[in-house]
Amino acid sequence: MKDQLTKALVCEGRVRLYLVRTTDLVQEARDRFDCYPCAAAALGRTLSVGTMMGSMLKSKQEMLTITINGGGPLGTIMVDAYADGSVRGFVSNPHVPTKTREDGHLDVADVVGKEGTLTVTKDLHMAENWTGTVDLQSGEIGDDFAYYFTLSEQTPTAVSVGVLVGPDQNILASGAMIIQMLPDATDTDISICEHVLEGLKPMSTLIQEYDDTNLEELARDMFEGVHILSTEPVSFSCPCSKERMERALATIADADLKAMIEEDHGAEVTCNFCNEHYQFSEAELKAILEHKYDFQA
Ligand SMILES: [Zn+2]
Repeated sequence: MKDQLTKALVCEGRVRLYLVRTTDLVQEARDRFDCYPCAAAALGRTLSVGTMMGSMLKSKQEMLTITINGGGPLGTIMVDAYADGSVRGFVSNPHVPTKTREDGHLDVADVVGKEGTLTVTKDLHMAENWTGTVDLQSGEIGDDFAYYFTLSEQTPTAVSVGVLVGPDQNILASGAMIIQMLPDATDTDISICEHVLEGLKPMSTLIQEYDDTNLEELARDMFEGVHILSTEPVSFSCPCSKERMERALATIADADLKAMIEEDHGAEVTCNFCNEHYQFSEAELKAILEHKYDFQA
């Protein structure tokens, strides 16, 4: 199966179920930043939940930014998510040394840290952005998002997310699940969901087991009477371009642009969010300097 996001309703429409496969997009993030295993897992988990949160937005103009900083050696995780299922993101320290727990799993919580916050900022195309911040609960990211949804968005939510990194540091499987109680959910609905969650295998295991089929199949195996709403592709995608970088260069002070031209004879601009490098020749920089006030107009 390809990376995809399935939205469904269960418990006769009183509970929302989201399932996402993100193996390829987390691999792309890993490759772009040369992430070591713990960084790949932490960024991958955040990107995976990000795809689902992006798909909850109401219109194509809206987007959201997730920022996690737990005070650990990984630094900050930042992810942008869009309504069309695309995400982009980075961590401050992609080369964070690998830590494993006693059970052999990557110790994501240790590199993320527990002393910090998870912040979600939504650009809903209104006068002011909406922001919600919660204290990190475990640094494992899944639990932290569950706490965020329940506290900040007042929607009781279970989150399961997993990234399986192979011995060669490639991503073997990655995916996530969100189960949300809608306002009319009953106590029985909650019991049913708790029962499903108790028997649920780790998300990366499920993604591997269902890789020959699709997520709709997984949803039907999890719950009785599933109503599938949609299945759409998700991807790592950054809207940066040479034109955008040109506009960014046009905001730099004349003296700094002149220094790039006269001393460096060119410039390389790197996008933080996708690590794409853009080269500007001396002639291109001269043109930007000459026309910079047109860019700003
Ligand atoms: Zn970019």
